[in-house]
Amino acid sequence: MRNPKQPVPRRTGDQADKRPRPERKSRHTRVFIGLLAGLAAGFAVRLSGLPEDTVESIVRWVKPAGDVFLRMLFMTVMPVLISALSLGVSELGDIRRVGRIGLKTLGFTLFVSGAAVLTGVLAVHVVNPSGGLSEADRLALLKRFPVPASAQTAETQAGGGMIDALVKIVPKNPLEDMVRAFDPSYTGGGILAVIFFAFMLGIAMALAPPAKTAGLKACLEGLFETMMKLIDIGMRFAPVGVFALLFSLSATMGFSILAILSRYVAVVLAGLLVHLFFTYSVLLSSFGRMRPGFFFRNTAELMLIAFSTSSSNATLPAALRTATERLGLKKDVSRFVLTLGATANQNGTALYEGVTVLFLAGCFGVHLTFVQQITVVVLCVLAGVGTAGVPGGSLPAVIMILAGIGVPAESMGIILGIDRLLDMSRTVVNVQGDLVAAAVVNRSS
Ligand code: ASP
Repeated sequence: MRNPKQPVPRRTGDQADKRPRPERKSRHTRVFIGLLAGLAAGFAVRLSGLPEDTVESIVRWVKPAGDVFLRMLFMTVMPVLISALSLGVSELGDIRRVGRIGLKTLGFTLFVSGAAVLTGVLAVHVVNPSGGLSEADRLALLKRFPVPASAQTAETQAGGGMIDALVKIVPKNPLEDMVRAFDPSYTGGGILAVIFFAFMLGIAMALAPPAKTAGLKACLEGLFETMMKLIDIGMRFAPVGVFALLFSLSATMGFSILAILSRYVAVVLAGLLVHLFFTYSVLLSSFGRMRPGFFFRNTAELMLIAFSTSSSNATLPAALRTATERLGLKKDVSRFVLTLGATANQNGTALYEGVTVLFLAGCFGVHLTFVQQITVVVLCVLAGVGTAGVPGGSLPAVIMILAGIGVPAESMGIILGIDRLLDMSRTVVNVQGDLVAAAVVNRSS
């Protein structure tokens, strides 16, 4: 953690102080201790034999510390998104260059997400996680995990049609999309509409006379730097917040359902690990000209933040700092690619969606033809692009894909109990995927 007596460097990015910071290691260690202690304490309570309602009330007391930590991060998301993306686009200055970087980022996203889903599909075929599940098991699981009302709302939304969803990406009132971006009942463009607005704001700023836009740019710069400081303040609570989040998770997680779903979890995690350490290493060394060892060493703290917050958006400010200060990437490229990637480039989510849909189809005995499996891959890639970078952001997309291939959407209830753990894991892959994309685009721009 930063020493309070030490002067805080005023700027992040290219001009930032690049000297090694000893306090980072200490914060990293403390967050990690919080993570392990939270898990250990949660399991101890779970195994202590205390009555269920006593465990629940302990969790009710501990959980708010985790919620406060999450909220500290969430409150910076909208201001960071608006300032970072619009400045990222406008600072590129040359619109043709924006177009090239945008196209490269998009192409990279689609290609790598496709590779991620195929990794997941392959893993499902090799392991067949739903093999051997009895009808009695299926009914018991559905009884144990009824589908929540919010998921049903999402299903209705998903039926709204692709063209309608695309039109809504252009916001009628960007303020409304900002205010309701995290509201599951909102049927507007949400966070994608905000991204579109910030993108257009950046283009317009780049095209307008510089003398007239200098004030607005300075204001957005100030907002961005202030949010970076705010996130730093929030991160001081990380060890306690992470402890509380992990404690409530491990104390309430159902062990019986974990046993039944362990193969499914193993397949998702194995797929994510392969994508994280193999696919990303290949991409980094071949297209990004960056040593994977250097990359993973310098992003270790970020992986912990992504894991504990389960949110690409909440991790975005820390990712921006890591890209420029630890990996030495260009500020304008990092801002653009990472801000866009926090929502649009979700490789881990795409992989997870592919495995989940095939697993659930298997549980229900729905045989998917080759064409249907290709459809699943395409839908997962698109859903990965459109998923909000928030905890559980991909659940509506999974429901949409299930409905699309004729598997009862209610079967989603089977995996909701363990989603948090997988959410934490796929978020790490999502965030790392954004940094890999930034490294590759940085190298080629
Ligand atoms: N939690 C993920 C993220 O923020 C999104 C998801 O897969 O639900 O990247």
